[in-house]
Amino acid sequence: MKETTWVQNVIKEAEYDHYMTGGKDFIDDDKIWEKIEKNKSPEPARIRSIIQKSFNLELLSPDETAALLNVKDPHLWDEIFDAAGKIKRKVYDNRIVTFAPLYCSNFCVNNCLYCGFRSDNKDEKRLKLTLDDVRRETEVLAGKIGHKRLIVVYGEHPVSDVNYMADTIRTIYDVKVKARKGLGEIRRVNVNAAPMSVEDLRILKDVGVGTYQVFQETYHHKTYSEVHPKGTLKANYQWRLYSMHRALEAGIDDVAIGALFGLYDWRFEVMGLLYHAIELEKQFGIGPHTVSFPRLEEAQNVAFDTLKYKVSDDDFKKLVAVLRLSIPYTGMILTARESARVRREVLPMGITQTDASTKIGIGAYSEIYGAEKMSERKDQDLGKQQFMIGDPRDLDDVVRELAQMGYITSFCTAGYRCGRTGTNIMTLLKTEKEGQFCKLNAILTFREWLDDFASDETKKIGEELIKKEMAEVKSRMPKIYSEKTVSTLENYHERIKNGERDLYF
Ligand code: SAM
Ligand code: SF4
Repeated sequence: MKETTWVQNVIKEAEYDHYMTGGKDFIDDDKIWEKIEKNKSPEPARIRSIIQKSFNLELLSPDETAALLNVKDPHLWDEIFDAAGKIKRKVYDNRIVTFAPLYCSNFCVNNCLYCGFRSDNKDEKRLKLTLDDVRRETEVLAGKIGHKRLIVVYGEHPVSDVNYMADTIRTIYDVKVKARKGLGEIRRVNVNAAPMSVEDLRILKDVGVGTYQVFQETYHHKTYSEVHPKGTLKANYQWRLYSMHRALEAGIDDVAIGALFGLYDWRFEVMGLLYHAIELEKQFGIGPHTVSFPRLEEAQNVAFDTLKYKVSDDDFKKLVAVLRLSIPYTGMILTARESARVRREVLPMGITQTDASTKIGIGAYSEIYGAEKMSERKDQDLGKQQFMIGDPRDLDDVVRELAQMGYITSFCTAGYRCGRTGTNIMTLLKTEKEGQFCKLNAILTFREWLDDFASDETKKIGEELIKKEMAEVKSRMPKIYSEKTVSTLENYHERIKNGERDLYF
């Protein structure tokens, strides 16, 4: 199909019109600013009672979030930071889930002013992985590095339409690679792609996609139109805003939202994300599975003024903590766009997921890990990637550092394979039960990874961590874990040590 014909058929207005009232969507720019203004100079006592509400794992109201955003006193911020970490532990325990992005194609019909893939960037080398390439990339990710979860990423273009996406996802799930003791394989594929129709989303659902992720980029209508030129598909704010509604209609239960911080005022974007969560809960009883807050990074030939709304490291930490308190049950993703230092500082603010060994050039994993000598490794090539990443460290280094910080890296993918998605997972999260399953599965998948992929140094630290985690599980018997659960855990752990794989609760 010709590119122009394809483009004309993507957007289906009838699929979002009916959610709007009087032609308006659920983001009211003026109202957001009013709330931010109205809640200036909040009393410390009010902030403390808002923090308490977050501990009950309820969504905050827009007024409450606006009050948090207006805190000035550094001591009160310290209380917010501390609460953010505690709430995360209450819901998710001390585990951090890890994943890697796999960029499949950088062809794009859009022209987003901030992105290296935009159609006007003629210096970008356009590449699309063949299914053989996808297999090779997956072999490195699952067989050499040891990832179990991927997020696949595509530009918006007819060459990477939903059928191509479905083929790539099937290919990834098919790859099995012999590891030291067991098998390397990807057990959960999440997708970051353009907004799609319900019909296309059903195709993704049928190939077993995990989470479907679309970032609104900016919730501010005027800025949205400025950075997404008229006449492009992405210029349609509502088609994008309601993409999660369509995903839920299509039966994809785990939906993920995000904003690209640095396009507009960060406080406004936090409010936008909260309103999005409120709307999803209202319409479907399901909030966002994860929230992302990428900061704008340098990209090739980008003339866009990236400084006007640049988010400082201090404000970044604040926005992450406020999001944790505002949507207390949600997963929160911190990516390798950030430097190792920022990741260390922001992780305790309530992060649940992070990527590692991240390469975002098309075909980069096999190229880089296939290099004969380390000196030949060229980790970043702006001509083939969307933006610069800040933390290129290998998974082994990240896992070791996390262990030293007291976190266990979880490779668990059990949740969606045994129906812990959608409203089920929302209930488990809000009643603090999800963290209990996750702890057990984190131990088991960490065991697998240590045996199959860890360096000697990481293995040593990891063994200590497993001992500590096992002891902790036992100490919570019988109140949290039954005797039977603990003995099943010990049994699974032994079997995994002996080479069995994929045993989970
Ligand atoms: N093309 C699809 C879309 O735009 O939704 C999906 C893939 S796009 C490659 C993934 C995300 O990268 C975008 O949603 C945007 O938030 C982010 N991104 C784009 N340019 C960026 C930049 N210069 N720095 C950081 N993130 C960027
Ligand atoms: Fe294309 Fe997405 Fe980049 Fe926009 S952000 S130019 S839609 S790849």
